Amino acid sequence: MKEVNNIQEYCSNLTSYQRWPTREVMVGDVSVGGSNPIRIQSMTTTDTMNTDETIEQSIRMIEAGCEIVRITAPSIKEAKNLELIHHGLRKRGHNTPLVADIHFTPNAAEVAARIVEKVRINPGNFADRKKFELHDYSDRDYENELERINNRFSPLVKICKEHGTAIRIGTNHGSLSDRILSRYGDTPLGMVESAMEFIRICEYWNYYDIILSMKASNTQVMVQAYRLLVKKMADESMNYPLHLGVTEAGDGEDGRIKSSVGIGTLLEDGIGDTIRVSLTEEPENEIPVAKILAARYDRGFSTDSLGRINSLPYDPYFHSKRKTMKVNNIGSENVPRVFANLSNLNIIKPEDLSSFGYLYSKDKDKWHLSDQAVDYIYVGDNKIEFELPGTLSIVQNSAAWDNNIFSYPVFDIDSYEKASARSDILNFIFVEEKIYTDEINKLLIEDKTVVVILMNSDAHSIMVQRKFIIDMMNRGVRVPVIINRTYNTSANLDFQLKSSIDIGSLLIDGLGDGVWLEFGSDKGLVNQTVFGILQASRMRISKTEYISCPSCGRTLFDLQDTTSKIREVTNHLKGLKIGIMGCIVNGPGEMADADYGYVGTGSGFISLYKGQDLVKRNIPTDRAVDALIDLIKEHGDWTDSVPV
Ligand code: SF4
Repeated sequence: MKEVNNIQEYCSNLTSYQRWPTREVMVGDVSVGGSNPIRIQSMTTTDTMNTDETIEQSIRMIEAGCEIVRITAPSIKEAKNLELIHHGLRKRGHNTPLVADIHFTPNAAEVAARIVEKVRINPGNFADRKKFELHDYSDRDYENELERINNRFSPLVKICKEHGTAIRIGTNHGSLSDRILSRYGDTPLGMVESAMEFIRICEYWNYYDIILSMKASNTQVMVQAYRLLVKKMADESMNYPLHLGVTEAGDGEDGRIKSSVGIGTLLEDGIGDTIRVSLTEEPENEIPVAKILAARYDRGFSTDSLGRINSLPYDPYFHSKRKTMKVNNIGSENVPRVFANLSNLNIIKPEDLSSFGYLYSKDKDKWHLSDQAVDYIYVGDNKIEFELPGTLSIVQNSAAWDNNIFSYPVFDIDSYEKASARSDILNFIFVEEKIYTDEINKLLIEDKTVVVILMNSDAHSIMVQRKFIIDMMNRGVRVPVIINRTYNTSANLDFQLKSSIDIGSLLIDGLGDGVWLEFGSDKGLVNQTVFGILQASRMRISKTEYISCPSCGRTLFDLQDTTSKIREVTNHLKGLKIGIMGCIVNGPGEMADADYGYVGTGSGFISLYKGQDLVKRNIPTDRAVDALIDLIKEHGDWTDSVPV
């Protein structure tokens, strides 16, 4: 376990919100970084050569609140066409800055840099063709490689300097160069070093209009990479603004939850000056999500005085779950447990469990469990008068506890101290206190049957709950903690995004042995959200993961339609990761750790990957989903879905 002695390595203050101070960089008229609001941006999905469609889509994005519009420029031809798009938008009264998105083509970047307000380059492929080969680079070879990059990148830096164009050095976890992979591996450190190579070239030319990003589809990797980048910048007296995003987050609820876990965790750390929520949907759909995330942090917030944290008992750059005791099936190596509340019902019937993943068939007298079946149900003072499936346990108020083999009592701190009857196996304690006191410590430290349910209903809870658990850790208390959060908002989206941040950020730091959310009356939505957050933070896998790109002007098929077709036939393959990528240029690298890949290779054709290996080429689109199923079957990863 690493002790971070100077917490300001990556976060100004872990108990009082402060934005990490960055320099201001102008992107056209929009100032990014410094004390400016967190800027919202997105990317078009149209063909860049289709000027009218790209202008129309850009306007829809701008009207939704997009402050910076990115457009792909795969070659010089598209880069040149940015001029028509730029002009068309200005003619329609929109001064929103444009960004050219560049992969592999320095010459297109040099054209675009004279037209648009910002150029995004990917340091993994700006001057490198990815061959997925690992070489043993001697120091001399490595220096030669850097010299080669310097020669390719310097002309662009000089053009940007001359034209007042900003550059985003946008590292992606999935597309690190073979050079970086060989030296640093597929790691957050490799991502940071990949950007550093390019930053040093910019600084050599006294060019500082730089914005940085460290995107990954894996939220843990993404958070670690940004934190490490901030630490590295602080070490080297740099302060460039940060653009946050989770790549290939997917669509619908999954994409929203995953983006919120990654982006929100960093915003809570005070990291991030501009955000892009990447969804496999129309780009204007990304904006309301981004607005909710940014608004939560734009004006800052304060919490009760918690005292400062000067050292951490865990490593914020490397995920590892807090070491806790095993109490019944909670804590230690167990997956985080999921809790649900049915205490509002006087009489609980089998059908009341259907929202929590348990379907009862009267005819067969049998329970069917979904992959999102909860572990504990809180019934308050009530009882359950029917036989429960063996995977489900009951939490009862201590005064009403009936002490059968599936039920466990819950106390508050006072009543636990005075209790005459306790379970020999598992006792829950509701803890509403925000400060971890000597009294609480005394109660917990020797008890091997206790699990704390740490409650909070404030607008911002992360700092309070994190500090409480850190204090437990610092005192050597290994009692498991269930994170309990109540939301008073009435909007489903608001609830889903905020709970994803609040729970996801703790889970990413390895804190929390279970989750219990309270919101509204839609129990199914709450349950789906909890399992979505656990999946997005990679702590408990309950469904298929889709790593689908948001699509852009390079996309060669209808990505939204295809994603939903693939989802329809594979959504029962729990734990499998399927990459669905719009183009062969970036797709294979960007789908990172997908088990199978479905990648557009040309108009009307798809190629299929097993891991990073291309296994079937140029399959006509109308047969490609079936071919994907065959491939999954060939490798023994297919199971038939079980009808309920
Ligand atoms: S992977 Fe998708 S978003 Fe990325 S460049 Fe290719 S088509 Fe565009």
